[in-house]
Amino acid sequence: MEMTEDKSLPLQESNLVFGEGNLDCQVLFIGEAPGFNEDREQRPFVGRAGQLLRKCIRDIGWREKDVYITNIVKRRPPENRDPSPEEIESYKPYLARQIDIISPKIIVPLGRFAMNYFLPAARITWDQGKLFNTGKCFILPMLHPAAALRGNEAMRMFEESFQKLPAALDKINTGGFEEVKQDEGTRKQQKFEDVQKKLF
Ligand code: URA
Repeated sequence: MEMTEDKSLPLQESNLVFGEGNLDCQVLFIGEAPGFNEDREQRPFVGRAGQLLRKCIRDIGWREKDVYITNIVKRRPPENRDPSPEEIESYKPYLARQIDIISPKIIVPLGRFAMNYFLPAARITWDQGKLFNTGKCFILPMLHPAAALRGNEAMRMFEESFQKLPAALDKINTGGFEEVKQDEGTRKQQKFEDVQKKLF
């Protein structure tokens, strides 16, 4: 694969975790970077946080194989440290191509890093569970499932935001956002407060 051969990419000491799922999906989940278990299995979100993510997907009646799951950075940073801005930048062209090929209706960034990749000014506790429109697709940021595992309140927020996904997708697919979209044009990262109120 082109990416395996790209030796300019950082974190070469870890395994490549490209992503998995259905390329024809409508919803794309994007985490931060693989952790220990993901590095070992070369699959995204297979550890404890991943189990929670996958359970939530099933709980809303979807199948894991109907969505696509990946990360911004495709190799594990040592000691599970945060990915650096340079690492995020290096993997960007590959993520951009994945997004382009998949062309999802909704991107769900999981956690602050993934969210700020799409919405640099957004704040995770404030903006998680809200629907944004980039003009090209919708973004519904959520807490990282690892954060949800750290406390009851975070878990409640995570599960509540997850419950919004099917209704958001339905509304997008039935053209329910058309009017607002036209009003707003293609302005990037515009928060759709009124749409959100209408929907939720
Ligand atoms: N956390 C992430 O952000 N991604 C994974 O794949 C696993 C844990």
